[in-house]
This record gives sequence, structure tokens and C-alpha cells, in this order.
Amino acid sequence: MILLATPMLSTAADLDRCTAADSCFDKLPWSELESRVEVEDIQQDFPEADVDANDSLWMTSQPRYTFHTGMSGSPSIAGWANVNSTSAKVVHLRSTDDAIHALQFVSKNKVAVAVRGTGHDWFGRSSASGTLLLWTHHLNETHWHDAFAPSGCNESVNGAVTLGAGVQFWQLYQESDEHRRIAMGGTCATVGHVGFSTGGGYGDFSRMYGSGASNLVEAEVVLATGEKVIANMCQYADLFRALRGGGGAFGLVTKATYRTYSWPQWIGSANVTFEGYADGVSRFGRWYRSVVQQGLSKHFGGQVQVGGYAGNNKSKIELAYVGSSAEHCRALLQNLSADIECVPRFGLASGESADPTSSAVGVPGWENSWEADQASSYHELSLSRYFRLEDIEEGRLQSFAEAIDHIASIPLLEGIDHNAGVVLGLNYGLGHGSDTALAHVRETTVNPEVSDSLGTVKLDVRTARFTPDANTLMNTEAWEALQSVRKVLDELLGGRGSYYNEGDYTEEAWQESYWGSNYPELLRTKSKYDPDNIFSCHQCVGSEKSGFRESVGRTRRLRGV
Ligand SMILES: Cc1cc2nc3c(=O)[nH]c(=O)nc-3n(C[C@H](O)[C@H](O)[C@H](O)COP(=O)(O)OP(=O)(O)OC[C@H]3O[C@@H](n4cnc5c(N)ncnc54)[C@H](O)[C@@H]3O)c2cc1C
Repeated sequence: MILLATPMLSTAADLDRCTAADSCFDKLPWSELESRVEVEDIQQDFPEADVDANDSLWMTSQPRYTFHTGMSGSPSIAGWANVNSTSAKVVHLRSTDDAIHALQFVSKNKVAVAVRGTGHDWFGRSSASGTLLLWTHHLNETHWHDAFAPSGCNESVNGAVTLGAGVQFWQLYQESDEHRRIAMGGTCATVGHVGFSTGGGYGDFSRMYGSGASNLVEAEVVLATGEKVIANMCQYADLFRALRGGGGAFGLVTKATYRTYSWPQWIGSANVTFEGYADGVSRFGRWYRSVVQQGLSKHFGGQVQVGGYAGNNKSKIELAYVGSSAEHCRALLQNLSADIECVPRFGLASGESADPTSSAVGVPGWENSWEADQASSYHELSLSRYFRLEDIEEGRLQSFAEAIDHIASIPLLEGIDHNAGVVLGLNYGLGHGSDTALAHVRETTVNPEVSDSLGTVKLDVRTARFTPDANTLMNTEAWEALQSVRKVLDELLGGRGSYYNEGDYTEEAWQESYWGSNYPELLRTKSKYDPDNIFSCHQCVGSEKSGFRESVGRTRRLRGV
């Protein structure tokens, strides 16, 4: 175990802009900003007693706490929560005009900013020490449309919803239920749609309906200069493309409009646990391959949990199905296991409890969202890699399964706690998905691999309800485990890339990994709309540009500055 003595962290504060650590900060004309928008100082100390780390809804309604509190780094790159990542002041954005005023002030006075909806970003991209936080939490208006015509376009979209930037999925799912229309979201109720969709955004039913990015039809954006623009396929089309997978580095999104779909007739889940890592993965792989080849994989999302909470030497298949009756689902699953049941989802009827924290189900409706143990997690390591049908073809399935077995058996990972483990995430790849899911995916700027792959192999080792401080030691065993995992996955799936929102904090070739051949275009769009890199964050488009120092070479502490 080593102490992180010289954190190297890429944040907005690394740029040549004013933060609370600089003498310029107190001299800024704050009263000018305060006359137009609500600005509040953020306490720099971190009163642990005040933190209810078990209440994810509470945490996301506090400007100074992030929902997920950290990511362990490497011997040379400090994890971001080991350093003080608290902003100095917050602007409570309550309207688009507030965002315009705030960004005009930022651009005129060269203030370092962080933009945050919920603070769920695994790498603290919405947190930066001593910055002015532009917080969208209060922008929670919604508008459901029977037909929506994107500005400047001739064609309308049948069924859409416009969401203020602060809307979280619990609100979306609750309203979806009332309107009997579904919109794409993820599996956790407190995640926000902007970070989700701008990074890609996948849920249990993405293989049927597409991703957050593919369903985005328009966004209202306030640029770094304070200018408001409406971006869609017909105007500011380059910016619109960048917002569909390029991450949060192009402007401040104040509202976004997404396609919605008719309420599905059938929806449910099916679980079964198999003995063995390699055996479980092989058994699942054979079944899934046949489902994909029959063109039926659009009906299934979910994951295969190998080890971790599935238990030592166990693989748990946790499927979500949609658009297929329980009988049809059961018939399909017979080839996987005679013991498996397809259970239609309850809570599909309107009017049930909508309290997102009161039950495991959380919100009624089509997405079975819950938070459970995920508030305030400290990630020791994470990594994902896309996999394709060819990786589970007859001749390759055995080596695929053995590689997963090898990773799941790495001593640190095997049985470390219920949060560790290897997952085959079926939601993150849209390859062989429905025509609807694939219709707009090529218009996005996520790694093109998403269109071909079946999902990701994903590793996420985290300690729940743990807030690291300046004295938190880096887990060197976890770091070594990550090197072993990376080696195995590079041999198995080298060059396939990974999901921006659930990537590897220490990955060096992150541009290629998150965006593949789309990166040069994204960098051009970044230079056009944010040439001064005001919206900067760790492993974000343009963060390698000159003037953005990956290393700050100084120690920041979690308590105080
Ligand atoms: C518990 C949990 C569950 C998750 N489940 C899923 C899942 O099922 N599927 C999936 O695909 N992902 C999932 N994720 C990943 C999630 O999509 C990302 O963490 C995403 O970044 C969250 O977005 P946010 O807006 O809520 O978070 P924030 O941390 O507030 O923001 C994330 C990024 O977006 C930027 N941003 C936020 N708001 C704006 C804005 N208005 N304008 C411009 N930039 C903005 C921020 O600056 C930051 O870079 C999960 C994450 C967690 C912690």
C-alpha cells in the first residue's frame, strides 16, 4: 500500500483559470453575478456527521456531495476523491437565462467551472476543487409531446419528451408511467439523463429501443460564451453529434428532447444461477449465441454476474425481457435451463408508490430501478471492453469463458466482497439489436463498436459507503489485479474499446478506447465550440490539449484547501 503524495488530476482547476486557491478569486466581481443568479458559498470542510451516505436521493440534492465519491488511481495518477474535489461556490441554475448569465460571467472573468447534474460520474468529471459549480439540479421541468418538430427541421418525431437538465430517472420513470410512454434511461433511479446520454446511456431495454444518445433529438445548449443555441440534426448538427456520445465537454445542456415509445405489452425478468465461472459463461454463451442468431436478442437485456455477489464459483444470469410474452420467454430459455422462470414485471400499472427510496423496485413502470448499496461508493478499479458475437462463436467460446474465469479467479476479486466481480453487461452493445435500436446509432459519436458488439465485459470493484480522505491509501493489490485483468482482456478483446461512462480512470489511450474513429471529429467540434476548454474534465474530449495539464503536481486534501 502506498500513500498518494503527489496527486495528478485533470480538472478544470488545472487550467489557467481562477479558482479559490488563487488570489484572483476573492477579487472577482461576485456581486455582479449575485445580482442576476442565486450564488452560494460551499463549505470546504467535510462534516462526516452531516452525510447520509445511505440516502442517494438526499446526496444528489446537495451541491457539495457527489453521489459516488471516488476512484482509486494508480501509483502515478491519484484517484480523484483522494483530493479535495469540492467547488468553492455554486450557482443554483433555475432557468436557461441563469445559465446564460453564469457563463457570460465565467467567460468574462476566466473562472474555473464544474458542471453537475447529480454527481454520479465515476471519475468526478462533475467535481473540481475550488471551482464555481454550475448546478442543474433545479431544472426539472418536463414536457411530453405527441409530436415534436425539432427546430429548423421539416419532419416531426411521433412521441417525445423534453427534460430539464436536472431531471433524474426516478422522475422520468414516474412520469413515463403516468403518460404510458417510455423513454430510455438507466438502471439507477438517481442518475441524470444529461451525463448518461451525452456519454452513450444504456438501460435494460436498449437492445430494443436504443440508447440515450441515439434517442436524443434536440438539445438546448448554453455555450462557453454564454450564447444559447438549439442543436439538432438540422442546425448546429456538428454540436448535436458531439452531444450524442462525446461526453460533457461541449457546452452546458439546459434541456434535452428524446424520442418516446409506446408502452410495452410485455416486460419482465428471468434469473438463474449456475455453478462455475467458465461453465456458467459457456452455458450462457451457447444459449445467447443461438438467440442472437435467431434475431431475438433484442428482447433481452441485463447481465451475467460472474463471482462477486453471485457467490464464489457461481455465475448468475440476470435477464430483463421486453416485447416477448412470459410463455415465449420461457420457451426460449428452456435451452438455457429447465429451472428458469420468466416473471412478468409488477408495478406496470399506474398509480403505485413512486417513492424512489422506499423499496427495491423504487419507481413503478417499465424500468426496475433501485439504488440499494450504491450511494457513496469508492471504486478501487473499473474497466470495460466491448465483446462481439464472434467472441462467443463455437470455436472461441471456450477461450472467452476461460478468460472470464481467469479474471474472476484473481485472488483479490474472488470473494472480496459482494460488490466485486466480473459482469457481462448485455445492455451496452446494440449489435444485433432491433431495427429501432440500430436506426440512429450511427448518428452518435460513441465508439462505433457499440453498433456491432453484444455488450461489455465489465469489472468494477468498489467499497460501498466509504468516503476516502487525504490519508486514504491506494489499494496496490487492486492496482496489480487491474494490470492482470487488462492483460487478459487485451489478449482476448484487444482494440475493442470501452464505455466512456464506465471506463478505466487510469487508461492512457482513452481517446481511442471511448470514441475510436470518432475522436478526430469530436476534437474539431470541441475546438469550434469551446476553444478555451472551459468545460474540461478527466479523460474528456480535448483534455489533452495544450494548456490542459494532466498533472497539477501538488497535493490537495479532502478537508480544506
Ligand atoms: C449508481 C450508478 C448507476 C449507473 N447506471 C448506469 C446505467 O444503467 N447505464 C449507463 O449507461 N450508465 C450508468 N451509470 C453511469 C452514468 O451514466 C454516468 O455516471 C453519468 O455520467 C451520470 O450522469 P449525471 O448527469 O447523473 O452525473 P454528473 O456527475 O452530474 O455528470 C456527469 C458528466 O456530465 C456532465 N454534465 C452533467 N450535466 C450536464 C449539463 N447539463 N450540461 C453539460 N454537461 C453536463 C458533467 O460535467 C460530467 O462530465 C451509472 C452510474 C452510477 C453512479
